Amino acid sequence: MSLRNFFRQVFFKTQRAVQRQVFQSKIAGCGHKFLPKDEITALGRTITTGVPLDENGSTPYCHCCLAEMVVPCAWCHEPIFIGNPITLYIITEKKLKNEYGFSDQEMEQYKKDGELPDGSIIYKASNGWLTLVGCGYTDCADTGADYSGTWMPPGKVERFASMIELGMQSNANAVFAENCSKPETFQVL
Ligand SMILES: [Zn+2]
Ligand SMILES: [Zn+2]
Repeated sequence: MSLRNFFRQVFFKTQRAVQRQVFQSKIAGCGHKFLPKDEITALGRTITTGVPLDENGSTPYCHCCLAEMVVPCAWCHEPIFIGNPITLYIITEKKLKNEYGFSDQEMEQYKKDGELPDGSIIYKASNGWLTLVGCGYTDCADTGADYSGTWMPPGKVERFASMIELGMQSNANAVFAENCSKPETFQVL
């Protein structure tokens, strides 16, 4: 065998092995075929994102299933994709009812469903206050310090303490800085 043929054979064998591997890794835990990196389109926006692969080259959810877990931000209605940071701002039930004309009965149903009619998520309802899931876009979140969790499969908030909460819990002084280059804007919490 010539050296050239030898290399060709090795090359094609490797190619076939790679193809087999790719084919095997194409079924996600949800049962659908997937690509390691693909587009997700939801609520009028498209992003390209990778999925985390386990040691077998599989992943829990395909991109189509991840698209179904996208919810609108309660405040600006931009899509919140899986893995996005979220805010948990609060509004009174009264204000929401006045703004949208929801009846008491409708409001009770929304609280039970954990969802408002536009699909935005009620994280918590207590004593006439509603905590709503909001996006982390700069137009909507006051600062990154308000990030309070991550939107995770199958469509729930994975909480982490925001910087403000951390500052309030610890005995050490936390400094909240609007602009790091301007010490006069620092607030000690
Ligand atoms: Zn799927
Ligand atoms: Zn928003």
